[in-house]
Amino acid sequence: MYWEKELETMNREQLATLQLERLQETTRRAVQSYYYGKAFTDAGLHPKDIRTLDDIRRIPFTTKDDLRENWPYGFLAVSKDELIRMHSSSGTTGRATVIFHTKKDVDAWTNLVARSMYMAGLRKSDVFQNMMTYGLFTGGLGFHYGAERVGALTIPAGAGNSKRQIQLMRDFDTTAIHIIPSYALHLYTVFEELGLKPQKDTKVRMAFIGAEPHSEKMRKRIEEFYGFRAFNSYGLSEMNGPGVAFECPEQNGMHIWEDNFIVEIIDPVTLQPVPDGREGELVMTTLLREGMPVLRYRTKDLTRILPGECPCGRTHRRIERITGRTDDMMILKGVNIFPIQIEKKLMEIPGVGRNFVILLEREGFNDLMHIKVEVEREFFNGELRHLEALRRRIVEELKSDILITPKVDLVEPDSLPKTEGKAVRVIDNREK
Ligand code: ADP
Ligand code: ZN
Repeated sequence: MYWEKELETMNREQLATLQLERLQETTRRAVQSYYYGKAFTDAGLHPKDIRTLDDIRRIPFTTKDDLRENWPYGFLAVSKDELIRMHSSSGTTGRATVIFHTKKDVDAWTNLVARSMYMAGLRKSDVFQNMMTYGLFTGGLGFHYGAERVGALTIPAGAGNSKRQIQLMRDFDTTAIHIIPSYALHLYTVFEELGLKPQKDTKVRMAFIGAEPHSEKMRKRIEEFYGFRAFNSYGLSEMNGPGVAFECPEQNGMHIWEDNFIVEIIDPVTLQPVPDGREGELVMTTLLREGMPVLRYRTKDLTRILPGECPCGRTHRRIERITGRTDDMMILKGVNIFPIQIEKKLMEIPGVGRNFVILLEREGFNDLMHIKVEVEREFFNGELRHLEALRRRIVEELKSDILITPKVDLVEPDSLPKTEGKAVRVIDNREK
């Protein structure tokens, strides 16, 4: 049993009171660090100026660049003796940022992951196979300790080595897995190569998927392929890692744990708050972190608060699945496009396979989008005109959605490069 019922279902007023207390404590702690000590002085701000939750807006934003410029220890609010763990981001968008934890920090984080996994349905009786990279990346160890806290038998499989993953699942009757969505699609191909069907030949009944943007269509595909339920898990190293926001059995938006974080959604251009329901950039403040509090962190992730209460009874608000990162946005001929728009369209088209990559190129003064799409094997065995018809259809459907005409090449299943970690969706060859 790992349901922190009182915390997860407390009414909004109680939650606000708890948040304010924790915010005041956090700001007092944060100014002990070199970075926030200076930032508060520069802003003429003192922790005692934070009297209401709205006062949080007086605190300047923190960005990934701030973390990078004060690398490695500029954000520490305790002495190094107090630290027991370091993690870093995956470095998807440049130099990886590092985060340090005290014993209490690791403990609080573990509680969050355990709470999240329990919410989705993991139990002590489960066998949990963690197919994420262990090490500096937070997805491996974060989930590992969370599952152990729930009491599940935890298999630290790590990422990659698909045949061995399948073997482990079969040998030890794995019932729950943690897997990156793009890798889940690839792994299905390996099942097929081995002549196995996950639904028949394994006991996996649920999956935690996350770490990269994916559409509802992609989730559905994964669920259909495997015959299990897949729960979206959102996190980022700056806010510990996994366990920030997570789907409950309703699978309709992710509860974001407001007893541990203050959540704001802002317009990324004006930096002003947007009303619930409107999309913007997620900004987060840690409320329990001792070693390295981070205030008003601009995640660059785009989402919105889903209005209304969740039937599951939890009072923490829900965010919609992430639609992209502000720095993933491609601008072509003045049109803003996110990779997930393309993924979503592709996943709707029958015949489209399990992987794709977007190449951005410059031809003379023109920007060109070139998309390579894996399609089902039968198209390569059949008549050429079917392949061409599928290619045309993909071009047309994409064009009506993203307003520019991409060049589309269809390639054989499993022929595009794969990564063990987050999928690389866009290769920009323009800036050379
Ligand atoms: P990096 O920022 O280098 O990728 P992290 O490993 O800390 O490093 O990854 C956090 C980021 O991963 C988030 O900010 C978000 O962009 C992405 N991410 C994590 N989980 C999800 C998810 N469930 N859906 C969409 N994006 C996600
Ligand atoms: Zn719920």
